[in-house]
Amino acid sequence: APTTIQRDLRAEFPGLVTSEGKPWHYLDTAATAQKPRAVIDAMARALGEDYATVHRGVYARSAEMTLAYEAARRKVAGFIGGTEEELVFTRGATEAINLVANTWGRVTLKAGDRILLSQLEHHSNIVPWQMIAQQTGAVIDVCPLTADHQIDLGAAEAMLTEAHKLVAFGHVSNVLGSVLDAPRAAALAHNVGAMLLLDGCQSAPHMPVDVAALGCDFYVFSAHKLYGPTGIGALWARAELLADMPPWEGGGAMIDRVTFQRTTYASGPQRFEAGTPAITEAITFGAAVDYVESIGLGHIHANEQALVARLRRELGAMDDVTLFGPEGSAGIVSFTIDDIHPHDLGTILDEANVAIRAGHHCAQPLMDYLGVPATARASFGVYSAEADIDALMAGIARTRKIFGKG
Ligand code: PMP
Repeated sequence: APTTIQRDLRAEFPGLVTSEGKPWHYLDTAATAQKPRAVIDAMARALGEDYATVHRGVYARSAEMTLAYEAARRKVAGFIGGTEEELVFTRGATEAINLVANTWGRVTLKAGDRILLSQLEHHSNIVPWQMIAQQTGAVIDVCPLTADHQIDLGAAEAMLTEAHKLVAFGHVSNVLGSVLDAPRAAALAHNVGAMLLLDGCQSAPHMPVDVAALGCDFYVFSAHKLYGPTGIGALWARAELLADMPPWEGGGAMIDRVTFQRTTYASGPQRFEAGTPAITEAITFGAAVDYVESIGLGHIHANEQALVARLRRELGAMDDVTLFGPEGSAGIVSFTIDDIHPHDLGTILDEANVAIRAGHHCAQPLMDYLGVPATARASFGVYSAEADIDALMAGIARTRKIFGKG
């Protein structure tokens, strides 16, 4: 049942006001989330009175910063049901996928091996695999979608062979909001001895995630979509996999002992974190997780589901609107209106202080499949409310008038 909470969440986000002091109806959280005051304050503290480097200093401030950095790792790992030994801080989901491709992929994939992706993947879960496939001679297969725009796991089952070493699927589509049946995908992958990587960019902010229950081997996500800062994200990898993965970038902090003859590497996540890490960002990532947990993903999910249901119902009642994605999508609604380009809609909505995304959403193969150059996308976050949909619907009515559509 939907839960209520006694907090004005919108008021906790200074970004949700226009420069004229009017409410900003921000419906682009899937691209990046606005930041609550608690997160902004945590970042200011980490950059200010708490600031020092990690892992090196003999002075107390550095030791405290190191503890805070490692506490953030523990917190972020715990948020998705993992442990700190399994969690690597990266620049974002994109770097996390590139890391898996360039470490696990580089030593695992051989000529003729196969990688199964799906038609709805974000470019960041396509291009790194193409690059490593080119280097290793591996081949990419594309799993089709069902009629209601979910990854077709029946087709995946028929496609998977012993040659497949990896299945890499979006847990939630950033365009359609479709939610993958991850445990089933994991079972199918594991049946043929393949690993499952989940792109969790759009699941971690919208639903409780437990990597063990999902059954995946790799899970990646970005802090900035979870009310945290840019420049930081996470790779979770099963401990046995991480232990065998060779390093990628070389430098300080990822080593055990360096001589000109031979270098040995640090064990654990540290091996993949060369150089001075994004200290303040990592600590603030932890603060963002605290923030999300203070609201609760159960509440977040219920609120977003109600908003998605209303928007789909109202858009679905218009006969010139095409809705993409399944019912019950996770916080995301993509649509087109006949004879109105999504960019025009987005521009007119902007004049009414409504921000939506219009474009290919870094998923050009999905646009090709849907047969459209672009869609309009409204996406929700913890601060989203009925008033945002009211403003969107009023803006759509105004756009229709401008285009002479009644
Ligand atoms: N995958 C999905 C599904 C996404 O929505 C995004 C961000 N749009 C990414 C990957 C890439 O995340 P980042 O740009 O934060 O690395």
